[in-house]
Order: sequence, then structure tokens, then C-alpha cells
Amino acid sequence: MSSHHKTAITILGATGSIGLSTLDVISRHPDRFSVFALTAYQQIERLADLCLRFQPVYAVVAKQTDAVKLQQRFRIAAINTEVLYGEEALCHVAQANETDAVMAAIVGAAGLLPTLSAAQAGKTIYLANKETLVVAGALFMQAVQQSNAQLLPVDSEHNAIYQVLPTDYQGDLVQAGIASLILTASGGPFLHTPLSDFARITPEQAVKHPNWSMGQKISVDSATMMNKGLELIEAHWLFNAPAKQLEVIIHPQSVVHSMVRYIDGSVLAQMGEADMRIPIAHCLGLPQRINSGAKQLDFTCLNGLNFLAADFDRFPCLKLAYEVLHSSNDASACILNAANEIAVGAFLHKLVGFMDIARVVDSCLQLFSGHTATDIKELLQLDQQVRTAAENLVHTHTI
Ligand code: NAD
Ligand code: MG
Repeated sequence: MSSHHKTAITILGATGSIGLSTLDVISRHPDRFSVFALTAYQQIERLADLCLRFQPVYAVVAKQTDAVKLQQRFRIAAINTEVLYGEEALCHVAQANETDAVMAAIVGAAGLLPTLSAAQAGKTIYLANKETLVVAGALFMQAVQQSNAQLLPVDSEHNAIYQVLPTDYQGDLVQAGIASLILTASGGPFLHTPLSDFARITPEQAVKHPNWSMGQKISVDSATMMNKGLELIEAHWLFNAPAKQLEVIIHPQSVVHSMVRYIDGSVLAQMGEADMRIPIAHCLGLPQRINSGAKQLDFTCLNGLNFLAADFDRFPCLKLAYEVLHSSNDASACILNAANEIAVGAFLHKLVGFMDIARVVDSCLQLFSGHTATDIKELLQLDQQVRTAAENLVHTHTI
């Protein structure tokens, strides 16, 4: 095994839910992986602990003051990790020659530029940051193709679909004999809550997901089902699937993680525990299967599997995402995402109610309906304009 080269990995968003699960998988395979860089936004203490444990070449934070403090700690602890800060540093560690692969696990559009850098540099990308594909799907996929980057989906639904697609799938559903892709959705914590109680839903209730333990933003997205909406757009770009070949079905147990419906009537599903280490290990191990640390599924403990249609009255965000997918303007997905990020943040800060999230997004889609964007600069400008408008709606209570 002397010629064996370890995969050097950069983890963007190392302190988050996906980042920590990734490090858990990596720690089970010290012979296979080395950690090149770890990045974090605010949880500097947690990042410091991770660096002491994994000793990456680089650590990246947002602010200079945090960088200085962290570098001092490393000097005292006598570890060689170099601390960088700011967005350029994120892009640097995502595209550096010394890194083979990048786990894109920053939350929100903040992950776009570093993930795009990894694509442009032809890295293997483990994609958790679905917002990258929502905001800039066309540009990102183009960068992946041009630089021959390998794009592997970490999001459990897309990873499930990836696992049950033909191994030589080239982005042509018809040629592969596929009728549709079926995304399963848990329905979140409010699947059976009376609609008349929705206006009183608190952030504490919304972030308590029944099956998955995740970051706050995606937990709220799961409660509104905007998460499934974002995932429809993600699936569209990943698998070259038009809206009419993308189905959503609610499956409250989260055992079937998604499915592919073939034209002959066969449906292939991927199943497992609701543990993100499973799709993460699938991506990291490819083409081999490796231990993820997750429990095996125990069928005797399952009390049946249920499937039901998603209700647009209950989940208007899902309807908005379908409309975006049907729209001819790619920039509408960027508008949807920016408005949603502001609305979710406002909800978490108790500035608006749960039902207002969809209203803010809907208003912004209408306000910006004529706006287009063709390159990354225009997309980022549009993203910023929509954020400002959404913040105005929130603060002036004109939702
Ligand atoms: P999280 O909130 O737990 O972690 C987010 C990470 O991003 C943290 O490390 C944080 O420091 C960093 N970050 C936040 N804002 C940043 C900014 N402005 N600049 C740089 N870094 C920043 O989120 P998560 O649940 O781990 O989700 C991460 C991504 O993975 C999201 O896009 C989410 O949709 C996707 N995802 C998560 C899960 C899950 O189970 N948690 C499943 C599927 C997909
Ligand atoms: Mg998902």
C-alpha cells in the first residue's frame, strides 16, 4: 500500500451538522483520508477543537479578529495549522492544488462562490449545499463539465437517486428508460397540525424535526417544505430532469430516501436509517462501500411505511418552487432562494410568523419577475437586491 494516496479533503462548513458527520466518517478511515482545510463562520471554539483533533493545513474563519485569536491558540498548542479569513480564503482552500475533494457544507448562498471555485478547479465535490444549484444551477453545472469535476450528491434524496440510477447514466432520462424521479419528503413536524394553528407555530417547534437532526435553516425549510422545493430544483440540475418528470411524495418514516421510476413499471428505491453519514460515506467511498458508523436498518422495528400526496395549501412553499421550476427564467430560483433565506432568518428571530415565510417569497417572486441574470456577477447582484427587498417587507410589516 505504499503507493496509496490518501484523499485530501477540504470541508466547507466543518462545524455544522453535515461537517461534523463528515468528520465522523473520516475519523473511521484514517488510512483513506486526510483533512486539508476546515472552515467555520461563528463557532470558533468548535473549530479550534476540530483543528486540534484533525490538524488540517488550513483553518478558515470569517473575521480577521477570530483568525488572530485562533492562530494564537494554535501556536500555544504547537500545531501547524495556518489560519486564514474571508471569502477569498474559502475559495482558496476549495481550489488549492493540495486538495483532492471538497465537502460543500456551508448553509445558504454563502456557499456558492467557494463551491464554484472547487468546480472550476476540477475537484471531486461532495455537494450538500443545495443552494449552490438553486442559485446558479446552469453556471455551476457548466463549470463542472468544463473542468471535468466529479459532482457527487450528499443530499439524502439525490444520493438515493444517484444510487439507483443506471451506473452509466449520462443525463438523458429517456435513453435510460426512466419515467420519473420520485423525491420522498417526511412532511416535517407539522404534517398533521391543523391549518388553523399554523400562524402560532414557533421557531422552537419548527426546528424540531421528527426524523433528522440538522442545522436550523434546513430544519425550518423542512417544516415549510421549501426544502423539498429547493431539492426539486437541485434534482433538475443534477439529473437533467424537467419539472414534469419530478415527483414529490410524502413518506413520514424517512426510510425510503427517494426512488427512480422506470418506464417498464419498476421502481427502484434506496433505504436506510435517517443518518446523513450514510450518503456521506457513499460519496467518500466511491467506488467502494465503506463503514459509515450508521446503524443497519431493522425491518422488524418498522411499523409500516406510508406514502401520501403533498398538499399545496398546507405547504405553499412547495407550490412556489414548482412554479419556479416551470418558469422560463432561471434567475427566478435565485430570487426564491434569497427571499427564503431572509424570511427564514426573520422567522427564527421572531420578526415574522411561520406563514409569512411563503408570503415573503411569493412577494419577492412577483416584485422581481422581470429580472434576469446571465453571469455570476449579475446573479450575486440580484441575490443582494432581493435580500434588501425581503428585509424591507419584513421590517415594514408589508407582507
Ligand atoms: P449548519 O447550520 O449545521 O452548518 C452550516 C455550516 O456553514 C457551519 O459550519 C457554519 O459555520 C457555516 N456557515 C454558515 N454561514 C456561513 C457563511 N456566511 N460563510 C461561511 N460559512 C458559513 O447546516 P447543515 O445542516 O450542516 O447544512 C449545510 C448544508 O447542507 C445546507 O445547504 C443544507 O441544506 C445541506 N444539507 C444538510 C442536511 C442535514 O442533514 N443537515 C441534509 C441535506 C443537505
Ligand atoms: Mg434532503
